[in-house]
Amino acid sequence: MSAKYIFVTGGVVSSLGKGLAAASIGCLLESRGLSVNLMKFDPYLNVDPGTMSPFQHGEVYVTDDGAETDLDLGHYERFTHAKLSRDNNWTTGRIYEQIITKERRGDYLGKTVQVIPHVTNEIKAAMKKVAQDVDIVLVEIGGTVGDIESLPFIEAIRQMRQELGREHTLFVHVTLVPFIAAAGELKTKPTQHSVKELLSVGIQPDILLCRTDRFLAKDIKSKIALFCNVGEEAVITAKDVASVYEVPLGFAKENVDTLCLKYLHIDAPERNMQAWEELVHRCYNPKDEVKIGIVGKYVEYEDSYKSLKEALVHGALAHNLKLSVSWIEAEGLETADESYEAQIEMYDGILVPGGFGKRGIEGMLQAIRYAREKKVPYFGICLGMQTACIEFARNVAGLEHANSSEFDQATPHRVIYKLRELRGVEELGGTMRLGAWPCKIEPDTLAHKIYGKLEISERHRHRYEFNREYEEPLVAAGLRISGSTPDGTYVEMIELPDHPYFLGCQFHPEFKSKPLEPHPLFKEFVGAAYAHGQRRKTEKETNAVEMFHRPEKLARR
Ligand code: GLN
Repeated sequence: MSAKYIFVTGGVVSSLGKGLAAASIGCLLESRGLSVNLMKFDPYLNVDPGTMSPFQHGEVYVTDDGAETDLDLGHYERFTHAKLSRDNNWTTGRIYEQIITKERRGDYLGKTVQVIPHVTNEIKAAMKKVAQDVDIVLVEIGGTVGDIESLPFIEAIRQMRQELGREHTLFVHVTLVPFIAAAGELKTKPTQHSVKELLSVGIQPDILLCRTDRFLAKDIKSKIALFCNVGEEAVITAKDVASVYEVPLGFAKENVDTLCLKYLHIDAPERNMQAWEELVHRCYNPKDEVKIGIVGKYVEYEDSYKSLKEALVHGALAHNLKLSVSWIEAEGLETADESYEAQIEMYDGILVPGGFGKRGIEGMLQAIRYAREKKVPYFGICLGMQTACIEFARNVAGLEHANSSEFDQATPHRVIYKLRELRGVEELGGTMRLGAWPCKIEPDTLAHKIYGKLEISERHRHRYEFNREYEEPLVAAGLRISGSTPDGTYVEMIELPDHPYFLGCQFHPEFKSKPLEPHPLFKEFVGAAYAHGQRRKTEKETNAVEMFHRPEKLARR
């Protein structure tokens, strides 16, 4: 059977969760024994999001092959088993880059190069490329219907329907049905307008996923069905939920998968969502809470660390805990005295995530010092590993003013410096050490205990590395290098013995964590943090009891 396509568009407003919707449909279809692939088209002109600010775009999600992609690909990988690569995310910029290269090469044989058919052909070719060896491809069109920028993509999916026919293509439109408090009712007009907009470019949606804060009653569904020319069964309540992992279950209740299969004429076994049901049950019935403080730079915009947050959630779920994260602006910890401690002492674990640039570094170093000295579990990812090395160099190995050459070119001790393979490269786009690289773990280390193996592969995105010239003094002072590239070139993991959990990694393990397969580093970190919190609680209680029975003893301490 050749692959069939489900196209997901969005209307009314952005941020309706098209990516999650596509991922959730993929998840349900997999539960019925079908194989899926997912892809996203982003209408902006940047070639990829790699050079965009996390404030603008949210997290840059890195795939195994080193593509810097949209964060929706993170949802796709967390919700399904699809193996994603640079073929699964295309921007207008990248489509045009290809066309212009071909034009310069003379491939168009003197023809006028135009949006239709040349741009649309390129878009269709990208869709067909990821459709090999799978049953269904879910194609998400970024942006909102009606945007000038997304028109070529919409036109391409219209042509796909024309080419392949109804049984092979399905249009799912995600829209908004707001509750207007003043009128005390749900409003269908925005949805009607959005569908009209789609119709004007030749697309009649088959299924409407209506984002709403309450269930759509039968009369509302009938009204939407009538005005939008879809079956009543195809008007779906996509209600807000507390956990994103409940979305597939919500869709299942509304029979979204069954409808897709019916419209696409596919016979498939019954769905089996038991593992997800158990997961969601755990989400809503935690035995306790664990508090993690994330000290970073782009923290006021949660989307900039999407996968990180999800990986922590997975780690917490593995212990049946509710995750409470606080995003702490690193610059705010840059106090001259110990007063910064009041901002971080309540956390069971501290994490410094990836980041770029100098701002906030000294604050991160304060937080790391605190975690190291007070034996609070610490997890440093990429920049968080580099800053852990700098902190250790300065405050344990006595290398005054140690730094990374990224933040201080004149430092006397460049414990972190520019990747040797990147010396002389000034261009910013796609010029980091990217994607999956193997790492060899040292036996009998915390890393070994956690992974339970000596060879791993993790995804990278960095420009600086640990300077091996400083290996000797740092190791002599007690730092453990627990992971390196197999050829020994790059340091990949560091840790501290005699600490419940102090671990840094140059890679980004968060990209590979899934709700049903939590990443071991996150699972162990959250476990250690919870144990630390419990220990602290017991200590406090014992102190209180001692204080009650023998106040003079405590006073003497
Ligand atoms: N800025 C650091 C580097 O380029 C860390 C990068 C990161 O944390 N992703 O190496």
